[in-house]
Amino acid sequence: MKHTLSLLVALSLPLAAQAQRKPATAAKPAAAGNAIGAIKEADIKRDLFALAGDHFRGREGGTLDELKASVWLADQIRATGMLPAGDDGTYFQWFSLQRTRLTKSSTLRIGSHEIKLNEDGAVTAPTNANINAPLVYVGTGSPAELANVDVKGKAVAVQIAGAPTDGISYRRYVFGKFAGQAGELTKAGAVAVVFVSDPKQQALYDHWSHIYERGRYSLPGAASTRVVSTPPVIWLPAGAASWVQQAGQQLTANLQVESFQYPSVNIVAKMPGTDAQLKKEYVLFSTHQDHDGVRAPIAGDSIYNGADDNATGCAALLAIMRSFKQQPARRSALFVYQGSEERGLLGSTYFSAHPTVPQASIVAVLNAEMMGRNAPDSAALLGSTRPHMNSSDLVKTALAANQAGPKFKLDTEWDKPTHPEGWYFRSDHLPYARLGIPAIMYTSVLHVDYHTPRDEPQRIDYNKLLHMTQWMYLTGWAVANRTAPPAREPGFKLER
Ligand SMILES: [Zn+2]
Repeated sequence: MKHTLSLLVALSLPLAAQAQRKPATAAKPAAAGNAIGAIKEADIKRDLFALAGDHFRGREGGTLDELKASVWLADQIRATGMLPAGDDGTYFQWFSLQRTRLTKSSTLRIGSHEIKLNEDGAVTAPTNANINAPLVYVGTGSPAELANVDVKGKAVAVQIAGAPTDGISYRRYVFGKFAGQAGELTKAGAVAVVFVSDPKQQALYDHWSHIYERGRYSLPGAASTRVVSTPPVIWLPAGAASWVQQAGQQLTANLQVESFQYPSVNIVAKMPGTDAQLKKEYVLFSTHQDHDGVRAPIAGDSIYNGADDNATGCAALLAIMRSFKQQPARRSALFVYQGSEERGLLGSTYFSAHPTVPQASIVAVLNAEMMGRNAPDSAALLGSTRPHMNSSDLVKTALAANQAGPKFKLDTEWDKPTHPEGWYFRSDHLPYARLGIPAIMYTSVLHVDYHTPRDEPQRIDYNKLLHMTQWMYLTGWAVANRTAPPAREPGFKLER
């Protein structure tokens, strides 16, 4: 990548040097060379180690840890010289998230087994239930096995068997059963459905039981956190298979749901543009500051530091701010760190619906999500192919910036609607794209340490992250200086 670096140095010549070479035709400041030299690998590394350190305890949305990290970030943002652009002249836009979960006093008993919730068994969706019913085991629940069983008024135990076909993941396979099979049994009168894992699904169970423990999150008023009293769907680990089949057992459950609000926060800053008219428009640099907090330890580590996810995006935006401070563009640059992304894109959903600048003034959204892992020379730009591309004009600008800068080989697989991870739908550009605002996401995609305590600062490729940051910056710089805003794709429609 050496040739790339020398080009970047040329692009970043200080204004003074350019003026010396061409004293008679000095360009207007905003049209002059960019300030890519202000983006420094050492700054990015320092900021990332600080934000992904254990003292912020994984920055979980809906906890004090996210708020502490957000205040720290606002201090760093102030130090770059960006102006506050949140509510009431501050760097913050506060919002409430609604959390709905089972109370700690909820109980579940099957036969002689006292089920410690989220360890010995998990309830897959919070629901109020008071049940005392006989348990009937129906094998895998095939039509033949169900033929002579009356499930009405009973708790029904089902063995999850078989393996996913058609290339779908175990997660989708198992969750498909929860939705489909449990729905059928409930319709037939079952008062609870108990699924028993196959040993192959144990890792999946271990992971999700801790997610269920946290409950559900939404913005207030959303259907997903409405308190319900539907028959519970219970998930048991594979070890339960031996005893759950015994005849004559009773299931007793007393499940209680609690629902409450907790503050989360977006951090918003801006660098005003230099053009009297265009400064009323904004190029929005987007990222999220939260991660997964403190959870069950893996190999002795319980802090999910989220170095790649998403301290990389946070450090990248700080570096881009330093460039815009050194050399503002014609349009204004807006920087939004969105809270509670991991809880369901809540900060970006809130900000896109209640932006602190007029919604129509946002000409493009460049979202930074996990930018420091995998091969040093490859990356992905989501929203760059149909049907996810909502501005071919913006994509063209981003591809040109890649050529002018880091020259990543672009992996387009992750942008496809058929990709099993559905990656396009899992980050903060999405709510903006749904509003028709040209939006793309810069990412180095998933890796084995994703959402584990091993996503730590020492595993980041800082030179790659530098190049990802430069790519975002060069795109944003071009968009902020061109005369017309990026054109929107007519007839843009997402597949889900
Ligand atoms: Zn993320």
